[in-house]
Amino acid sequence: MKIEKESFNNYVRENVFDTIRKYDLIENDDKIMIGVSGGKDSILTLHMIHSYKIMNNLDFDIEAVCIDEGIAGYREEGIKTAKKNCEKLNIPLTIHSFKNQWEHSLDEIHDFYKSTCMPCGIYRRYLLNKISDEHNCDKIATGHNMDDEIQSFLMTFARNDQNKFPKFGPKLDKIHENMVPRIKPLWKLPEKDVGIWCVINNIPIHDEECPYSVTSLRSDVKSLLNKIEEEEKGTKNNIFKSFMKTFNVKQEQVSLNSCEFCGQPTAKSPCKACEISEEIKKKVL
Ligand code: SF4
Ligand SMILES: [Zn+2]
Repeated sequence: MKIEKESFNNYVRENVFDTIRKYDLIENDDKIMIGVSGGKDSILTLHMIHSYKIMNNLDFDIEAVCIDEGIAGYREEGIKTAKKNCEKLNIPLTIHSFKNQWEHSLDEIHDFYKSTCMPCGIYRRYLLNKISDEHNCDKIATGHNMDDEIQSFLMTFARNDQNKFPKFGPKLDKIHENMVPRIKPLWKLPEKDVGIWCVINNIPIHDEECPYSVTSLRSDVKSLLNKIEEEEKGTKNNIFKSFMKTFNVKQEQVSLNSCEFCGQPTAKSPCKACEISEEIKKKVL
């Protein structure tokens, strides 16, 4: 199928800009931190937020942060790609690692867990928030696309964990003084379109799969959804529409406390990151 570059680029830009405008994701004077892994989703987010600022002549600051989990043979390429794109757009990039923060890399602790994504996700979200808070950012932009949101939605059912509902949607509220709210500009953009955009515009991306991704429930849900979509076109869109209806039902606002050890926002003290790092110390000693 031949894709007409200009009209495809207009479609992607309009899809993302519409989400930003409709849900007030970015305001003048904001300082936005973009979480960049080097993968296609975060790279598109970086380029779109940069274009949104330039094309609308807006006055807000953009920074980027790349979290190095310590996955040998994988993460190095992602960091290189993140650097390349940030340099091209003149966006300052901070790199911070699990090793700096907790003295162990993901490779060193992955054996302790059935799914490596569990400690990885907790540590990464923790660092993203901590660094953005230290840099006085107003929002953290992540590369979550429509497929990610549908997968997360279905995973809450698989885990009977509907408490996660308030974490869905394109913009999360600030519910703790040290919490930097998330925004998701790619919220209603299908994953396949993110990939096409990067290819037709020759944007450098890191498109390898993380070696640990096979251990996650997300990976199973993703394969299942892709298989159903192949056989029954439009399924993902229908799930997204159902999700919107559910999401529109007003959720009870959750409140957060401060972790007694690190002070970061958490539902229950100690926070999950402190809990994991304590657990690891006991296992290693
Ligand atoms: S796939 Fe899992 S282990 Fe790999 S970077 Fe993502 S969350 Fe971390
Ligand atoms: Zn803590």
